[in-house]
Amino acid sequence: MPILRDSQVSFDYTVPVAVVGAGACGLTAALAAADAGAEVLVLERDKRPWGSTSMSLGAMCAAASGEHRRHGIEDSAERFVADVMAKTAGRADARLARVVGEQSGPTVDWLAARHEVPLPLDFKWTSLGHSVPRLHIPPGRSGEQLLALLGRACERAGVQVMTEARVRDLHADASGRIRGVRIERPDGSTEDLGVGALVLASCGFGGNRERVARHIPEMANARYFGHEGNEGDALEWGEALGAALADLSAYQGLGTLADPQSVIVPHPLLLEGGFLVNLRGERFTHENANISGMCVPVLAQPEGLAWVIFDERRNAACLEHSVEQRQLAEVGAIKRAATWPALERLCNLPEGSLARENALADASRASGAPDRLGRSFAGLEPLQPPFCALRVTGALFHTQGGLVVDERAQVLRPDGSRLPNLFAGGGAARSISGPEVTGYLPGMGLCMAITLGRLAGDAAAGVALGAAA
Ligand SMILES: Cc1cc2nc3c(=O)[nH]c(=O)nc-3n(C[C@H](O)[C@H](O)[C@H](O)COP(=O)(O)OP(=O)(O)OC[C@H]3O[C@@H](n4cnc5c(N)ncnc54)[C@H](O)[C@@H]3O)c2cc1C
Repeated sequence: MPILRDSQVSFDYTVPVAVVGAGACGLTAALAAADAGAEVLVLERDKRPWGSTSMSLGAMCAAASGEHRRHGIEDSAERFVADVMAKTAGRADARLARVVGEQSGPTVDWLAARHEVPLPLDFKWTSLGHSVPRLHIPPGRSGEQLLALLGRACERAGVQVMTEARVRDLHADASGRIRGVRIERPDGSTEDLGVGALVLASCGFGGNRERVARHIPEMANARYFGHEGNEGDALEWGEALGAALADLSAYQGLGTLADPQSVIVPHPLLLEGGFLVNLRGERFTHENANISGMCVPVLAQPEGLAWVIFDERRNAACLEHSVEQRQLAEVGAIKRAATWPALERLCNLPEGSLARENALADASRASGAPDRLGRSFAGLEPLQPPFCALRVTGALFHTQGGLVVDERAQVLRPDGSRLPNLFAGGGAARSISGPEVTGYLPGMGLCMAITLGRLAGDAAAGVALGAAA
């Protein structure tokens, strides 16, 4: 991923704004640049845009949106910042948290009103660090639908998306101004394209084993369940250009990836009274204390496996709203039995283990006191037969560290100066999750993709059009 410094290169064609990557960040950036009046081209390495966005649940957090007002929910940028700082123990970038607190709601409103990308507020699972409901999710409740809606909006806005176009190298001058990009096609041929401004929306480095081992050693041997094409290209270019990078140790790693089906088990099963046991039939963690980093305790169990234990009533409720739960039901992943001993046999768990753990949960429910793992079951309905189980493992889902950006999503150097025409968002940019796995708030991945994408596209258009004027 070198930076090409040949100032003699001339380009047959120059596009005012180019965007690397056609995920949520790239397509949102393209819409914003088009709205600002710039011609924009999105360059995507895959044959069809997919990215981590399509793999996601499609839930974006946003503060103080029109949806909040519609539902009479009071929210504000201040409240959002307070939640972010509490979740990250004060270690997130407070300046960027403020920008996202102020801009995420208006971005949701803009997507719905201007681009027909509706993101209604969701009430299925709300807490986990957000002090008010903040998850906005498309009606089909999937990342696939979110990307499709953004793709259609791009078509309407006249945005060109060039697929099978992997950006390999950037052309830059001595000041760090990006002059163009070198694209590699599947047959190995290359093309050079001039750019007025460039938005890096190529996500993080979860698909790059060497970088994961370097920055997140505890996940070096874990399964990666994000988009394989996210190889950290933006970080390579940023480093070579002298950009600042931060929080590279931060990530989201869920502990509830169905094994072997590789489908995410919906959180409400645990939030609403289900629990996890290891292959010895023992609970080992407070299931809701750190959902984002649950991969760590799960992978520390025998064979790195666990069972999510719940009941048919919760299963039925989940089937209504979760695409993933329906997929798991269709492939027969959900074990079901009328009694605890029968479920223990189905799951090959020690005799009496599930009945014992359930009795302890019931005791916590009755007394109102937290159990030995610090979890309180007070107020949650007891599990009732038939009982259900899903086998899960932990995996790295997406990284949270990246290029340091300012309030316009413009890439910064360590001394705070700006690279002249380079912008970044989504997984390519440093998030507001702090440096630890514990700092991730639900919906923050897409929030940083869509909110920073909009800011980046708008500012990139401003730079490109300003330079052309
Ligand atoms: C299973 C799963 C579930 C998730 N659920 C949620 C959720 O519900 N809510 C939430 O907020 N977050 C969720 N996330 C995280 C969220 O998906 C990401 O944070 C978000 O999609 C990042 O968007 P992006 O546009 O930056 O990256 P992506 O959507 O990954 O798009 C990046 C694109 O860049 C392309 N690319 C990479 N390098 C190049 C190159 N050199 N040249 C050209 N193209 C390139 C890739 O092919 C890809 O299409 C989830 C993640 C996973 C894996």
